[in-house]
Amino acid sequence: MRWTDLPSTSPLRTLEAWRESVLAQGRVEPAGVAAIVARAQAGDAPLVLIDAQAMEVAAHHVGASALERGGLLAGTPVSLDGAVALVHVTRAIPGTEDDATPLSLRLGATVWSRANASLLPGEAVVGWFHSHPGIGAFFSDTDRRTQADFFAQAFSLGWVIDPVRGEHAWFVGARCESVPVQRVVAGRPGA
Ligand SMILES: [Zn+2]
Repeated sequence: MRWTDLPSTSPLRTLEAWRESVLAQGRVEPAGVAAIVARAQAGDAPLVLIDAQAMEVAAHHVGASALERGGLLAGTPVSLDGAVALVHVTRAIPGTEDDATPLSLRLGATVWSRANASLLPGEAVVGWFHSHPGIGAFFSDTDRRTQADFFAQAFSLGWVIDPVRGEHAWFVGARCESVPVQRVVAGRPGA
């Protein structure tokens, strides 16, 4: 497995700054944003908000192959009182060097450079996704090592998709804490 690490700038925004910037984009209803903020403030685990388009891009990428495929997730990590309260996933960036086998995944360095080159102001690589076709959505020992080695920020997400069974699993941070499905919100707030 070949991964290239990212520059270590802190992309964390405050919940208030995130709220203002999402409202300023004007594509989201204020009531939807308020609901997301309330849920982000309430839970123990970070809330994951994934935009519909990011979800579609990832699902299309992994659904098109019986082999294990994956990519990176870009978005905005959001903090409240020093803890990660929300991770807003805005884009999925499919890997292209998927010389993958059914049970192992190799993402080349190009997906990292493409991701870095495409980041918008305030955006960061917030995690990775990959598929487990037909074997269930879980983190293998290799996945745990990958997460700990390359996605070790408190906001770093690991998303596993089994496109055959229609299962999803989310993990966060270097210790691969499970994110309950109730803490994953698909679609834009208010959409
Ligand atoms: Zn895996």
